Amino acid sequence: MPTSSKHPETVVLHASHRFDAGTGAVAVPIFQTTSYQFDNTQRAANLFALKELGNIYTRIMNPTNAVLEERIAALEGGVAALAVSSGQAASAIAVQNIARAGDNIVSSTDLYGGTWNLFANTLKDQGIEVRFVDPTDPENFRRATDAKTRAYYAETLPNPKLTVFPIKEVAEIGRKLGVPLIVDNTAAPVLCKPLEHGAAIVVHSTTKYIGGHGTSIGGIIVDGGNFDWEKHAERFPALNTPDPSYHGAIWVQAVKPLGPIAYIIKARVTLLRDLGSALSPFNAFLFIQGLETLPLRIREHVRNAQAVATYLKKHAGVAKVIYPGFFDGEQKRRADYYLKGGYGGLVGFELKGGKDAGRRFIDSLKLFYHVANIGDARSLAIHPATTTHSQLSPEEQLATGVSDGYVRLSVGIEHIDDIIADLDQALKASDTRALAAE
Ligand code: PLP
Repeated sequence: MPTSSKHPETVVLHASHRFDAGTGAVAVPIFQTTSYQFDNTQRAANLFALKELGNIYTRIMNPTNAVLEERIAALEGGVAALAVSSGQAASAIAVQNIARAGDNIVSSTDLYGGTWNLFANTLKDQGIEVRFVDPTDPENFRRATDAKTRAYYAETLPNPKLTVFPIKEVAEIGRKLGVPLIVDNTAAPVLCKPLEHGAAIVVHSTTKYIGGHGTSIGGIIVDGGNFDWEKHAERFPALNTPDPSYHGAIWVQAVKPLGPIAYIIKARVTLLRDLGSALSPFNAFLFIQGLETLPLRIREHVRNAQAVATYLKKHAGVAKVIYPGFFDGEQKRRADYYLKGGYGGLVGFELKGGKDAGRRFIDSLKLFYHVANIGDARSLAIHPATTTHSQLSPEEQLATGVSDGYVRLSVGIEHIDDIIADLDQALKASDTRALAAE
C-alpha cells in the first residue's frame, strides 16, 4: 500500500497506486486489454488454479479496476473488493454469492426501488426468498431469521425516508446467529463506514457520489474480512463445501493463505466469471477520477443540503421536510451516531399542493436537472411516485416511504445562492394561489 493513512482525503489519492512501474505514469493507466500474456504454461496453470494471483482475463480482473477496488476497500476499511458493471449487479452478486434456491435473506423495507424489485421479483423467481422487515425495530431481523437465512441487507441512508439504518444493532444480532450484514452505502460514502459498526459486506453504486459526475454506471462489493464463514459452516455451504464449478475448491480453505477473502474471491472467480457483469477499465478510470475528490465534494454536498433543508423548512408552500438533521428521538440519534461530518446530500419534501404542485415544481426547475440519478456534482430533482418507484404497488410505495407529493432533491455543489434561487422560483411557480394573485 503506498499510504498507511486512515484519512479519506489521503486514501482516495494514494492507496494502491503511486506510479506505474513500467512507465512512471502517475495517473492510473487505463489497461484497455481483454487478455494477459502468460509467461509459461506453469504460470498459466498456477493462475487458473489460484495458486498464484494474477491477471487472466478482463472479465474477472483488470489492473485499472484493481486500483479502484483497492482504493475503495481502503476507504471502507475492508480487505478486498470486486468492481462490477452496476450497483444493481453489486447487490445481486453480493446476495447470490451466499444464498441459493431454497435459502432466504432478511432485508430492510427501506430500499432503492431497483433493489426492491430485484429482491421481491427476480431473486424470488430464482428461489431466494427475501423477507422484508421494518428496521425501526432491529429485533425484527432476529424474528425473521431461521436456519436458511444467509444474510441481512440494508441501506445506510435509504431514500426517500432518509432514516439511518441501525447498523451496529442489526450486525450484532446477526453475528450471534451467524448471519452477515450487507450494507448498501451508496448514499453515505465517507460519512459512514458500515464495516466499523459490524457490517460484513459493503456495496456501492459507484454511479452516484463516487463517480460524482454522472458519466458512468458501476458498482462495487467490499469484503470486510471480518466474518467467520468457517465457524458457521452449516449456514454457508457455498463457501464451506466443494464447489463443482471450480474443480471442487472449498473457498474458505482454498484462499486461506491469501487472507480472509474467501467471500470476495468466490464472487470474482465464479459469479463474475459466469454472469459476466464486468466493469469496463475505462469506467473504472472515471470512478478513480471521481474518487479523488469524493471527500471534498461530500463536504460541499452536506453544506448545501443543510442550507436547502433549512430554507425549505421555513417555506410556506412546503408541508414537510425529510432530512436526517431534522428528525428527533431515536431517528436523530441514529443519524448523529452513524453519519460523521454531516447528514448527506439528499433532502426530501412534500408540497402542500400535493401531486399536481409536485409536478409543476419539477417542470419549473431551471438549474436542477430532472433525472433519476443521485450523487451528481449537479443538483438533481425527481418525483419518485411517478418515476423511480412507479413499478412498485401503492402499498409497496408507501412501505418504502414514497407518498404522492414527495419530491427528492440530490443537492449539488453549485453556489448555494443559485440553488436556493432556483428552488424559490420553482416553488412560486408550483403554487397556483401565488400565480392567481400575480
Ligand atoms: N443502490 C442505491 C442506494 C441506489 O440509489 C441505486 C441507484 O439509484 C442502486 C443501488 C443501483 O445502482 P445502479 O444504478 O448503478 O445499478
